[in-house]
Amino acid sequence: MLRAYRYRLYPTKAQETVLEGQLRLCRNLYNAALQERRDAYRKAGKTVTGYDQMKCLTEIKAALPEYAGVYSQVLQDVLKRLDKAFKAFFRRVKEGSKPGYPRFQGRDRYDSLCYPQSGFSVSEKTAFFSKVGNVRIRLHRPMEGKLKTATIRRECGEWYVSYVCEVDAQPLPATGSAVGVDVGTTWFAVTSDGESVENPRHFRGAMKRLRVAQRAVSRKKNKRSNRRRKAVRRVAKLHRKVSRQRLDFHHKTALKLVRENDLIAHEDLNVKGMGMGNLARSVHDVGWGQFFALLSQKAECAARRVIAVDPRYTSQACSQCGHTCRENRVSQAKFRCVSCGHTANADHNAALNILGRAAPSGVNVAHSASVA
Ligand SMILES: [Zn+2]
Repeated sequence: MLRAYRYRLYPTKAQETVLEGQLRLCRNLYNAALQERRDAYRKAGKTVTGYDQMKCLTEIKAALPEYAGVYSQVLQDVLKRLDKAFKAFFRRVKEGSKPGYPRFQGRDRYDSLCYPQSGFSVSEKTAFFSKVGNVRIRLHRPMEGKLKTATIRRECGEWYVSYVCEVDAQPLPATGSAVGVDVGTTWFAVTSDGESVENPRHFRGAMKRLRVAQRAVSRKKNKRSNRRRKAVRRVAKLHRKVSRQRLDFHHKTALKLVRENDLIAHEDLNVKGMGMGNLARSVHDVGWGQFFALLSQKAECAARRVIAVDPRYTSQACSQCGHTCRENRVSQAKFRCVSCGHTANADHNAALNILGRAAPSGVNVAHSASVA
């Protein structure tokens, strides 16, 4: 399976200029290729494929010598990215969801270079990239497995590299327990064992500071002023802080679940998201999507099972007798079965139902229920 390792890069001033230049060229290539596909379709009704465009790269390099300064596979990857964006667009059109045509990339939006196969290597102190040179790197943790790809990324004026490696699975010994996880907005998650996982406090603090910083930006009306640019950068830094804190929290929460359980059941977000149009929900979905992705990666590596179940009516069904009706849900927090009188915390009841759907044979349902 694949695992990503991310490290900070410390390019010299000269290397930074080279990297900035390459990013600019890649962005221009992306936008030009997008323009070509648009024009070909609008004017001639023709579909230009990513493959067609890749064949033209040699010509482009002959006509525009500056492109010789970018590693060839990095340029190919730019076109592959565009092709991916178009494929996703066509898929969305087919599915009938909101299509969203591939966008032109602005100066601040295009910020990574991908070496998909070769042209890079790494040693203890330096990372080598073809057409960039040896860049100082801080390998704060050892890398395992076989190197596959390298992606250089610019982030708030800093540089990073992500290496994707092929690693072997490291199965964990069986624990004999299974768990259902109900994610929500009040709590980050509630498990069928009756454990509530709170959204971390510092995270809320950062969100508050973020709102303050965002107001500071909107007060500065002159779009080109230095003070506004600085305020925008502050917002970007806070955003990054929040997303790093969230990522860290997701890693730790997922790891704990994987260590303690052989089987983890959660709601299938694709089904859950249906019919919930409001924005707040989708903001939370982003967080849950990342969490579930990490959970299944870690589970795969440890040879654990993760099952996504249909979440419909998990909050209305009684985990004891199975009676399902809306009246069972007394309030946001409280559940009381109309049929058998079973009372429980609503999220805990839902978590038990989720586990029940993943393991109908009742691997450990009896044990979990007794905790209630
Ligand atoms: Zn009941």
